[in-house]
Amino acid sequence: MAFADIPDQKKAKRLIRNQLNTERLSHAYLFLGPEGVGQKELAKTLAKTYFCENMDEDSCEECTQCIKVKHSNHPDFDLLEAEENKDQIGIDLIRDLQKRIAYRPYEAGHRFFIISGADKMTEQAANSLLKTLEEPPGYATLILIAEDESKVLPTILSRCQQVRFEYLSDEILISYFKQQGVKEENLKLMVRLAKGSLMQAEKIIDNREIFQKRNQVFQFLVDLADKSRVEVFREVDKWKEWYEEGLPLFDLLIDWYRDIIIVGDVKTGQINNSDYLSSIESIKDKYSKSELIKELEFIREITASINANVKIELALQYLLLKLRTKRCKYEESSRSNISSGR
Ligand SMILES: [Zn+2]
Repeated sequence: MAFADIPDQKKAKRLIRNQLNTERLSHAYLFLGPEGVGQKELAKTLAKTYFCENMDEDSCEECTQCIKVKHSNHPDFDLLEAEENKDQIGIDLIRDLQKRIAYRPYEAGHRFFIISGADKMTEQAANSLLKTLEEPPGYATLILIAEDESKVLPTILSRCQQVRFEYLSDEILISYFKQQGVKEENLKLMVRLAKGSLMQAEKIIDNREIFQKRNQVFQFLVDLADKSRVEVFREVDKWKEWYEEGLPLFDLLIDWYRDIIIVGDVKTGQINNSDYLSSIESIKDKYSKSELIKELEFIREITASINANVKIELALQYLLLKLRTKRCKYEESSRSNISSGR
């Protein structure tokens, strides 16, 4: 991708291009912002444009240098990240970087080192990297990519030029989904689930059965009061698997409750799951608004606990059993109200 093809991120692109054109690149950058909104692409494009044989203001994407960076096999471009299934960057990776950075450029006049997930470094790794940031060789530029600024050591923050990345606009995501052949009626939901990130959008496209799974999740919620404990446990196993495959389960649940709470107060067009309108309305009629808001709060708490490393299986069991108990109690009390003539 050339600068011109990277979607959105006007400010970040302007800053980098300016410094590149005036030959005032920093020795270290920290790209901050939500995951998967173009940070790696911009880092690559910076290197491509620097190395490009056609010496223009943007990468040509055709010369040997551009192609090597594009395919991540340029000897002067290194992308380092946590191994798959590991959520930390350890000291080994930083030591490896320090070994490599000691060598002068092989092919081009400069070297670029990208560390993706710089907010996932262990303390030991971060302290070790600090030494490199204090005395970087003149021929190298380091680009750190991080989502959570609060997890980056202040001493690292202060040694890097910070570049902010924004969520992608709905228009960009819509055009991406259209290119992928998503039907018009599904676009709105897809854009919401992608939450401003192209990486998330790609995951959704990879997960083709997303609509089928979503239907099952919603149908289970509709029938929750009639389900046995065994059925709940069986469902939890399924949801856990789908969640691990990339289904944005908690976003779906939060959206579902949001729709139930606001239905009737807003135009139908503002309901995200409008294909479930009649179920949503009937749930709304059955339960009190305050009860539904409490349930939504409860789901948010569970979501936060998952992010804080509580086991997904336990969290889902707890969630569904508790919601089921509430539903059963509610149904029982409304039945007894009817039979006592109230
Ligand atoms: Zn080129």
